[in-house]
Amino acid sequence: MKQCSPCFNPPDKGEVFFTDGSPPEHPSSDAVYNEMNRLAGKYTCVKLSEFGKSVMGKPLLKICAGCGKRKVLYSASHHANEWITTLVLLKFMNELFEMSRINGRIGAFNAKDLLNRTTLCFIPLINPDGVDLVLEKNSSEKYFEQAKKIAGDYPSIPFPLGWKANIEGTDLNLQYPANWEKAKQIKFDLGFVSPAPRDYVGTAPLSAPESRALANFTQNFNPDIVVALHSQGNVIYWKFANYETWGAYELGLKLAAVSGYELSQTPPESDNAGYKDWFIQDFGRPGYTVEMGLGESPLPLSQFGTIYAEVAPLLATAANG
Ligand SMILES: [Zn+2]
Repeated sequence: MKQCSPCFNPPDKGEVFFTDGSPPEHPSSDAVYNEMNRLAGKYTCVKLSEFGKSVMGKPLLKICAGCGKRKVLYSASHHANEWITTLVLLKFMNELFEMSRINGRIGAFNAKDLLNRTTLCFIPLINPDGVDLVLEKNSSEKYFEQAKKIAGDYPSIPFPLGWKANIEGTDLNLQYPANWEKAKQIKFDLGFVSPAPRDYVGTAPLSAPESRALANFTQNFNPDIVVALHSQGNVIYWKFANYETWGAYELGLKLAAVSGYELSQTPPESDNAGYKDWFIQDFGRPGYTVEMGLGESPLPLSQFGTIYAEVAPLLATAANG
């Protein structure tokens, strides 16, 4: 087997989020970029690159590692107030790369072997503008005022904590060309007929730059499976419409077993236009939406340790197959 270049670490500045076992910091886009840059500087086996820009012009970044045949794409924070998912992916990357360096284990697997068998790409922050809005770290008054105005049309949704969309009020996980018209019908019937904090499908499939960039990168990377992280529900969705995807149920059962989450069919009202729906439809391969944690998003940082303990073995198992 071909061996990947080893992960090694020159002295570095230390982790941004996970320093001493205490709850991590909130993942503002600046903090996430710092951490991704730090990982890329510390571990020679990882590659950091940009695959697009958000509405506000913030970079959409990915980190890829490994040199094996099986390709897995992980994504987090499609939805702004589900930013805890970003921290889970960042922590997982930290653990994976460090275990690879010291020849340790991640989940049930030897990390170095895993990276020799796989190519893993991580996109921890698909919606940087939205996450910054929810965390009140948005630096642009113009965009903040615009978002506040959008939220004013939907007064029952708390602002900014209830915000899931991108900064222009398009729900990035209702943007993919997989029953998009049906999603539009359902959400319009529910009253989401204009830019909104959540559930507005946008003017057309892939009209939002963030979703479009992810779709483009997914086509270029051509992964064997995708895992999209959301909160909440302790549940894994694995199916889209009537597509029968070879191996999807079997791997789904393994993901459920190692996390303790339930493997479930998507509820009909949300079984449309999502990233995993589109992947299942267009690629005919397994795609999973993992709804981590319980409670109301944004989930508190105090849940992070519990959630990470559930989801890390799932992420490792998804890599291994
Ligand atoms: Zn979500």
